[in-house]
Amino acid sequence: MTGAGIDVKNLVKQYPGQRALDGVSLTIDPGSYTVILGPSGSGKTTLLAILGGFVEPTSGKVTVDGQDVTSVAPSRRPTTTVFQDYALFPHMTVGQNVGFGLEMQRVGKKDRMSQVSEALEMVGLAHTKDRHIADLSGGQRQRIALARALIVKPRVLLLDEPLGALDVKLRRHMQDELTRIHDTVGTTFVHVTHDQEEAMSLADTIVIVRDGRVDDIGSPEQVYLNPISAFSAQFMGDSNLIEGTITDDGNAADTAWGRVGVSTPGNPHDSVTVSIRPEHIEMGATGPGNLGEWIVAEAHFLGQRYRVIARRDNQEILVSLPQSSSVQQGQSVILGVAPEMARIVKGDLS
Ligand code: ADP
Ligand code: MG
Repeated sequence: MTGAGIDVKNLVKQYPGQRALDGVSLTIDPGSYTVILGPSGSGKTTLLAILGGFVEPTSGKVTVDGQDVTSVAPSRRPTTTVFQDYALFPHMTVGQNVGFGLEMQRVGKKDRMSQVSEALEMVGLAHTKDRHIADLSGGQRQRIALARALIVKPRVLLLDEPLGALDVKLRRHMQDELTRIHDTVGTTFVHVTHDQEEAMSLADTIVIVRDGRVDDIGSPEQVYLNPISAFSAQFMGDSNLIEGTITDDGNAADTAWGRVGVSTPGNPHDSVTVSIRPEHIEMGATGPGNLGEWIVAEAHFLGQRYRVIARRDNQEILVSLPQSSSVQQGQSVILGVAPEMARIVKGDLS
């Protein structure tokens, strides 16, 4: 089954006293793994529910493979949703749960049984077919919900925080499983989460939403390395944000920390906000990008890296240093930004 492409135009969802979506336009490529990432309350569930047909937009349009589905009922769309709480039927066996969609389509018993076995095999739970839902762990229920959704061979699978109820280790494992299943079935996956690490590990495209709008969009590398806004820079990992003025030649910004080279030229003398990732700050640097001397206020050893907060006067900077730096609290360090690693971003520091 090939995945469908989705086009969303100018979606608005107005609830009494609350605008959940404020003009969302978006193209989702056929067969992609698209992750909708944003903080709680940003409109992720509303957007997914509109794609699935469970919520009607106040205005705007949704097309799937060029066909307008804005007013089409959920069961008549080529989409299937895995809900946040899985919504499994507690009184049915695993096999009955997984086979439910086929039963609704009046697929014969023999056919159904073999497809149920296949779907269960795909999620690694063939042996649980006759068990009851109550006897399964959280991770197993999650997989059953996936099998139940995929058995009807949807062209688009919509997943709302599907791993939210799992502990960290199982979540990481299920992320690998989801990638494998996505590669196997070829369906378009649209996956909602507030976890940036989950987004980066799964997505080929990340859509960052903020206050009912698309803030940033691109591959994990694009969004992480070239965030478009201060919000995106801070939401996708740690970032130092500082105000600056673009230099005469446009290639650097003068900030309270020093002069830093920017990745793409700015307009000379413009006031800008720049984002610098903690891992792009090095120890002992000289020349352009030199941020001068700082005192290590905190140094947390995280295994691969040290997470360091350095201060001077009333300034504070977040730095990620390699294990080999053996940095100590109270130590005086010279810091510098790797060439061209400061990004000009939209928006203020709040
Ligand atoms: P997210 O999934 O990103 O946490 P939601 O889409 O659930 O965000 O909600 C976006 C905003 O819309 C929130 O402020 C939420 O309170 C509001 N909202 C969601 N559903 C309803 C509803 N049925 N009635 C009123 N307000 C709602
Ligand atoms: Mg939600």
